[in-house]
Amino acid sequence: MLIGCPKEIKPQEFRVGLTPAAAAEAIAHGHAVIVESAAGEGSGFTDDAYRAAGAEVVSTAEEVFARAEMVVKVKEPQAVERKQLREGQVLFTYLHLAPDPAQTHDLIESGVTAIAYETVTDRDGRLPLLAPMSEVAGKLAPQVGAWTLQKANGGRGVLMGGVPGVGPAKVVVIGGGVVGTQAARVASGMGADVTVLDMSLPRLRQLDDMFRGEFNTSYSSQARTAELVAEADMVIGAVLIPGAAAPKLISRAQLSEMKPGAALVDVAIDQGGCFETSHATTHQDPIYEVDGIMHYCVANMPGAVARTSTLALGNATLPYMLRLADQGWRGALEMDEGLMAGLNVHAGKLTNYAVGRALEIDV
Ligand code: NAD
Repeated sequence: MLIGCPKEIKPQEFRVGLTPAAAAEAIAHGHAVIVESAAGEGSGFTDDAYRAAGAEVVSTAEEVFARAEMVVKVKEPQAVERKQLREGQVLFTYLHLAPDPAQTHDLIESGVTAIAYETVTDRDGRLPLLAPMSEVAGKLAPQVGAWTLQKANGGRGVLMGGVPGVGPAKVVVIGGGVVGTQAARVASGMGADVTVLDMSLPRLRQLDDMFRGEFNTSYSSQARTAELVAEADMVIGAVLIPGAAAPKLISRAQLSEMKPGAALVDVAIDQGGCFETSHATTHQDPIYEVDGIMHYCVANMPGAVARTSTLALGNATLPYMLRLADQGWRGALEMDEGLMAGLNVHAGKLTNYAVGRALEIDV
């Protein structure tokens, strides 16, 4: 199969869908790879690295879309890219169709077979192609939160780990899933005093077993959350209710109970945010202040560490991409129900029920 990888064109997107190592694997499996020139630049991969892996480097995205039997990307295709997709071609990338009727209609019209990273499931029903980006965002959250806490950035001027004789920062992580666990590990590694809140007792038990002593766990009742938030130097929002907007767990009124200059890092902002006062920000202008409390609400946090994110995403997508190439999309999907769950659009039809419900389109 001829696998193609164009350069990402969404603003501020520096990741790439295929690393030179992944290209080399595909070629070792007997496939051919074409990559648009400079596609890997934002993640630190040169055209020569792709050539050394055996890929052909071409000068335009048009050539990639015209020739490739399977297009591998990171972000959803933009309008100009969607015009180049065609029936019989496979698209393997993040799509997030539910809030995006324009993209959904274009993909249906193109006839392409579109498999979305975010709806592929594993045997336990988890989302293996979303998890690596949650791990990145989780590990990044205390790092950006620590920066937000610095005085020059409007923060309280508190050092995460304290120093001998001066106590550490108090960090509260709301949601103990993939993001929350990684955030808690990094924050406690920085020396902070960390408490993780979750409303799932089995999850709290698991965290307690795995990380005993490294951080505290607490049930996420409204009263306990309010108590901990009032004492916190930093609160990291990491909740997820699958298929729903994030619940608002800190109200504007509660900000006045908090310590002035405390930092709120709302990782759940891509699902609408879990603090009432959150609104999405960008890497160029990541923080803002409301009632004396600093907010960091960047919706695509993994973009800040594009190289790590590209490598992490590539590790997760590679086995699926190889199976799609080796067995053809139909054969690969028939052998793996979880990969089948990734199929969102095929031959002019929407094939995902959740997207169909959200957009009121027949599936
Ligand atoms: P996850 O499903 O692994 O974990 C979510 C956890 O939240 C679960 O343990 C659940 O029990 C808990 N939870 C739900 N409601 C709660 C409540 N009211 N109080 C306390 N806990 C509650 O999800 P995840 O992969 O960790 O993702 C968390 C959020 O981070 C999601 O909204 C995801 O979209 C977002 N995310 C954002 C970025 C970014 O760049 N901003 C990147 C990756 C993920």
